[in-house]
Amino acid sequence: MNKSALHKISYGMYILTSKNEDKVNGQIVNSVLQLTSNPITIGVSVNQNNLTHEFIEKSKVFTISVLSEDAPMNLIGNFGFKSGRDTDKFEGIGCKTGDNNCPSVIDSVVACLELELINQTDMGSHTLFIGKIVNGDIMSDENPMTYEYYHNVKGGRSPKSAPHYIEADIKTKGDSKMNKHVCNVCGYVYNPEEGDEDAGIEPGTMFEDLPDGWICPTCGVSKDEFEKKE
Ligand code: FE
Repeated sequence: MNKSALHKISYGMYILTSKNEDKVNGQIVNSVLQLTSNPITIGVSVNQNNLTHEFIEKSKVFTISVLSEDAPMNLIGNFGFKSGRDTDKFEGIGCKTGDNNCPSVIDSVVACLELELINQTDMGSHTLFIGKIVNGDIMSDENPMTYEYYHNVKGGRSPKSAPHYIEADIKTKGDSKMNKHVCNVCGYVYNPEEGDEDAGIEPGTMFEDLPDGWICPTCGVSKDEFEKKE
């Protein structure tokens, strides 16, 4: 089949949070959709190896925070490319506890959807969790970030644990005399024509001219982890 056909499906950018007693965890998800309107139910696909998956099965509650277009890459990297087993993803992050008694992220978020688990389907690598909404609120008037915006404007990529990940995702588009460099950890591509606005790097800055303290905007590793893309 032509796997590019799958790229024609639209996705959003969300932080899914859940809890296990007094512990909290969260991760980036793309595959979220409203399934019914009466009652309002929402489905989300979650990798079975992820800590958030374990927490949802235990607590039966989860919240989906819809990211805004201005969400910084380090927020997405923190929740998308790190494991809650190794790090406290919530350190320094603005949170609130909703009517479902589940904490959620409120920084760089346009809306929060608070859910209780009512059903789940085992899809092999992932589980489709279905939640009934108990509350929802608008947090800002910014535009919600689509996956296309994250990919094309922010230069972001998908981790291998994402339900829609395919190998072609990490290939860079087009040719340039200015070499692009790809992060070996997360697949982020530094494009010198675009620079790194969040870090104050002007468009036209060669990779070699980035300051030594510059880090991958998605996963936070140093320049040493990057390789030149031919
Ligand atoms: Fe990276």
